[in-house]
Amino acid sequence: MCPVCLRPQSACICALAQPVLAATQVLILQHPLERQEAKGTARLLHLCLPGSRLEVGEAFDPQQLQQWLYDAWPGAEAAQQTLLLYPQTPDQPAALSALTECDAPVSVRRLVLLDGTWRKSRKMLYANPLLAQLPRLALTDTGPAGYRIRKAPRAGQLSTLEAGALALQALEGWAQDAPPLQALQQSFAGLIAQHERLRPAH
Ligand SMILES: [Zn+2]
Repeated sequence: MCPVCLRPQSACICALAQPVLAATQVLILQHPLERQEAKGTARLLHLCLPGSRLEVGEAFDPQQLQQWLYDAWPGAEAAQQTLLLYPQTPDQPAALSALTECDAPVSVRRLVLLDGTWRKSRKMLYANPLLAQLPRLALTDTGPAGYRIRKAPRAGQLSTLEAGALALQALEGWAQDAPPLQALQQSFAGLIAQHERLRPAH
């Protein structure tokens, strides 16, 4: 096992990660069932973002979660604004509608990503009221055309890395050809290529 990415050495993804500098602090909350998911992308995103944080669980201790959401981390200031990347749901009418409301200058912004299938992330949301009440960033209709890597690990759903890249692009104001965005895209493409390579032949 590789001690950094927790994968078998033959499938180590550490070399695929291209470091990306982003002002937005990223907190990835991974559902326990995703940890061993060979096609998962959260770990790679975490490796690409040197200041990011990845925590595993479904129902978190509220005090602990509160700290992860708002307090200073080692090497990172306390957040002035914390957003959850999650679609709008009818039961949360107070959620931020879209990026427009994130335009206000905020010097320290934190973005929370839930790593799991829709069902698992919904469970995480309901199990953690602190997450449910966060202002949301929804990607619907805001994703720039053309940036959707075709071979998504799960059909009909963006991978965590892709969704995170789109959210960061919006929050950081990256152009389509911005080097950090390209670095994330290349890291993801490398992961897809590795899956293809390692997939047993039929
Ligand atoms: Zn590794």
